Amino acid sequence: MTHILVVGGAGYIGSHMVKHLGALGCRVTTLDNLSGGFRDAVLHGAFIHGDLADKALLAQLFSSQRFDAVMHFASHIQVGESVLDPGKYYENNLVNTLNLLNAMRVARVHRFIFSSTAAIFGEPQSATIGEAHPKQPINPYGRSKLMVEQALADYDHAYGIKSVCLRYFNAAGADPEGQLGERHEPETHLIPLVLQAASGRRSHISVFGRDYDTPDGTCIRDYVHIADLCQAHWLALQTLMQGADSQAYNLGNGNGFSVQEVIEVARQVTGCKITVVDSPRRAGDPARLVAHSAAATQALGWRPQHAALETLVEHAWRWETRAR
Ligand code: UDP
Repeated sequence: MTHILVVGGAGYIGSHMVKHLGALGCRVTTLDNLSGGFRDAVLHGAFIHGDLADKALLAQLFSSQRFDAVMHFASHIQVGESVLDPGKYYENNLVNTLNLLNAMRVARVHRFIFSSTAAIFGEPQSATIGEAHPKQPINPYGRSKLMVEQALADYDHAYGIKSVCLRYFNAAGADPEGQLGERHEPETHLIPLVLQAASGRRSHISVFGRDYDTPDGTCIRDYVHIADLCQAHWLALQTLMQGADSQAYNLGNGNGFSVQEVIEVARQVTGCKITVVDSPRRAGDPARLVAHSAAATQALGWRPQHAALETLVEHAWRWETRAR
């Protein structure tokens, strides 16, 4: 049975991945410090409460168990915070990831799937962003992720650690079966915030800027369903299990939706009133970020099953209105 270590398996994307791996018959061990995740979101396998800064814990973990691969989701993700407190981002997203890779190296675990981000590209220089787009991140968050991608190339060359970097555009939605969803504290992402405004948990949704160079003036993003992201991780893992070389893929649907369009879809799906308050631009937001994911389609055979924004919002709404 394939044994996967999922680091950050109690967080938003990690917890969906743990469930996905469990359904596919894998043995799973989650390592999470619960700084942003929740113990009750880990629905499958073993759970270890621990931090990647703890090198002794990593050495003990890798010497006592044999892992076929590691999936790494544990990182800080707020762009604005990374500008104000870059040390926090380099320490966790870069240094702690190197601790993990060094423990893998000693234990001769040679397969690694890494949560990367569209933020490694910086300001878009084309309508859609493929893998070859220049990588010029404009904030410490994006830089911390790009530095790991660069380190991974060196770790492959020198130590034979094969990796797949998956650069998510806007991860969104919730478990189609309703067991899991987005639980960031504080929540900063558009879709959960819009749905909280619909359910009455918030008074309104702020629209950050209406003066962008887009058809309705609001920012355009490529929202990818969490279940489709999980499937991409699984397919990426299969390539490494079959001996493929290290790769990086951009993951999106190739469709952009504006903030205003997301709010309209949320009104249709929920049938609720959503109060909008126009607000200033948020620092560091490019007008349009849309993926060109042909490489993932071709090399991984990735076919998003929940590409419609309505479906994604429906699943997120079911999570927002669950019994608490
Ligand atoms: N956004 C917004 N109001 C909010 C949160 C986000 O208008 O309360 C906008 C944000 O400026 C961006 C888009 O929604 O243009 C998606 O933002 P999110 O934080 O969800 O993801 P990001 O694109 O930053 O990764």
